[in-house]
Amino acid sequence: MTDRQQVDVLISGGGVAGLTAAAAFGAAGFRVLCVDPAPPVTDEAAEGADIRTTAFLQPSIPVLEAAGLWARLAPHAAPLQVMRIVDAGGREPVARIVRDFDAADVSDQPFGWNLPNWLLRREMVARLAELPNVEFRPGTATAGVTARDDAALVRLSDGGQVAARLLVAADGRQSAVRQALGIGVRTTRYGQKAVVFAVTHQVPHDNVSTEIHRSGGPFTLVPLPDRDGRPASAIVWMERGPEAERLAALPVPEFEAAITERSCGLFGPLTLASRRAVWPIIGQTADRLTAPHTALIAEAAHVVPPIGAQGLNMSLADLRALLDLATKAPEALGSAEMLAAYEKRRHLDVQVRARGIDLLNRASMLEPQPLRDLRAGVLGALYGIAPVRRALMRAGLGVR
Ligand SMILES: Cc1cc2nc3c(=O)[nH]c(=O)nc-3n(C[C@H](O)[C@H](O)[C@H](O)COP(=O)(O)OP(=O)(O)OC[C@H]3O[C@@H](n4cnc5c(N)ncnc54)[C@H](O)[C@@H]3O)c2cc1C
Repeated sequence: MTDRQQVDVLISGGGVAGLTAAAAFGAAGFRVLCVDPAPPVTDEAAEGADIRTTAFLQPSIPVLEAAGLWARLAPHAAPLQVMRIVDAGGREPVARIVRDFDAADVSDQPFGWNLPNWLLRREMVARLAELPNVEFRPGTATAGVTARDDAALVRLSDGGQVAARLLVAADGRQSAVRQALGIGVRTTRYGQKAVVFAVTHQVPHDNVSTEIHRSGGPFTLVPLPDRDGRPASAIVWMERGPEAERLAALPVPEFEAAITERSCGLFGPLTLASRRAVWPIIGQTADRLTAPHTALIAEAAHVVPPIGAQGLNMSLADLRALLDLATKAPEALGSAEMLAAYEKRRHLDVQVRARGIDLLNRASMLEPQPLRDLRAGVLGALYGIAPVRRALMRAGLGVR
């Protein structure tokens, strides 16, 4: 009766989570529209490119396979076989405790695979172009939402209107959908920021991801494929906000000296191999994950500090739950029953992980020496009990 577009699934947000969701629902045969006000930047050197990397943990891979994405991504991925935790919280910045969590203890697969975010966007946009039932409309934002009995009615910034059986809010930590529906959030501000960049180094990483704790937050090196014939890693360095801003503005030689010291020299001198980007760090959970005909996923639903590669993997767990429910009962897509089941499946996991990462982050930020010594003691003790060690690895991975 009107020119209102009808779709099965409208995805608000074309970040990494939203693009994955579009590919996954599209590959499952649903009619999908994905909107985002910002066209994706798919070239590392371009202005605005997201130079962060994402470590996809094992349980995320079947979601990427189902979406037809993994075959495209795997050739660019660096495997993560070992998670190394280093405590450098003594008086001098040296590694005083080193503990390796080896994936071989719990699985015949690596923990995960690391990829640059700009490359994820490039491959995801290319995948969407292969799916005739998926429309990706960059340059268009979600402007308003009204819940009807049979659908979510969505107003777009280009003046269009869409009726969606299921509206998936993947529009980030300031989610327009979440705000339009009046869903509140609980936000934790740590006063921290992360400086994100890539380095090359002399000592090979041997597919080990290394998290070094001193104070201010973790300094994490995640393996990348070699660059210019040299071993390379992506680094996330979390520090108190003003210190992070100071570090990010240092001249390159001074910055390289600072990162080499903060890495305890474990990889030899570090050479900066990218721009530096600064990200504010918060924790945030939405009061609810659903509204009529609407599901919140990814950072629209939960934001966690980047520790243990949990953020996007929690998002793909959201997507896995939604897809599972949608494909088992396609006729019930977006129904109250489907959304209640989604809320039930995801609520506890989100709360537990958000709380666990909050505690780890607070422990990593500690300044007083006695508390840093206590932290080192707890790490050593937990690691020493093999069943606890394996249980921690499985919990981090999200497998039983
Ligand atoms: C420093 C750092 C390192 C990280 N490292 C890891 C890691 O190693 N592993 C991991 O699993 N996670 C990691 N994370 C977390 C991960 O990056 C996030 O979970 C992920 O980027 C969130 O993606 P998203 O798609 O929810 O949000 P975003 O990437 O913010 O995407 C939201 C999208 O919504 C769009 N949007 C905004 N408003 C509207 C609107 N009105 N209508 C439609 N669209 C809209 C935006 O333009 C944007 O494209 C890290 C996070 C940080 C900060």
